[in-house]
Amino acid sequence: MLNVTAIETFYGPSQALFGVDLSVQTGEMVALMGRNGMGKTTTIRSIFGLTPARRGSIEFETQDLRRLPAYRIAQVGLGLVPEGRRCFPNLSVRENLLVTACPGPWSLAQVETLFPRLAERRNQMASTLSGGEQQMLAIGRALMTNPRLLVLDEATEGLAPVIRQEIWGAIRELKAQGQSILIVDKSLAELLPVADRCTILEKGRTVWSGIPEALDESLRDRYLGV
Ligand code: ATP
Repeated sequence: MLNVTAIETFYGPSQALFGVDLSVQTGEMVALMGRNGMGKTTTIRSIFGLTPARRGSIEFETQDLRRLPAYRIAQVGLGLVPEGRRCFPNLSVRENLLVTACPGPWSLAQVETLFPRLAERRNQMASTLSGGEQQMLAIGRALMTNPRLLVLDEATEGLAPVIRQEIWGAIRELKAQGQSILIVDKSLAELLPVADRCTILEKGRTVWSGIPEALDESLRDRYLGV
């Protein structure tokens, strides 16, 4: 479904990615891992054309994403839950969801079933939501685009434990429904049992890919610092 091969990405003159390889098959959940500053967000920004890759290839189904501007990438079946959530603060919860709606199985009612808190807060301004509720809204907004691949950057970073569990519950449900997912999160305890495969980045390069069961203690020590 998604094939990223040897991408190199720069911020001005400064190179952040030196050769990232990553793939997601249909129905798979792939965890993109690595310590802080290793290039996870930059990889996601490259896929979405927000910080375009200068070299390498990014193919999504039949599309060559490097040839498309960011607004077109958002229309070809990729849904992004960005780091920092980026909800529209002055729109209501409902408006935040409707603004990205595209035809498909995900509707307002289904997002509200997945996240009942959003139904309770339907008419509130997004700016009045807690961080965890904003994260639910960001996930709901991405689902409203009916993406074939959902991409989550820092799915539960900085959220209260109760809310994190709600969000992991929703992610597990999405996985069970067959949603293809690429996810970044630091919580290995929640991530590893649900991921089908992991890809680890170090200093802007893919250094390891494999199934979670193969991620032994020495690999964790070496690349994840835990
Ligand atoms: P984190 O877990 O902290 O979010 P990350 O793995 O997502 O880290 P990136 O944010 O992709 O890592 O950063 C990769 C490299 O690119 C780092 O060296 C970082 O300092 C650099 N970088 C990120 N954003 C910018 C920017 N806007 N301008 C210049 N350099 C940047």
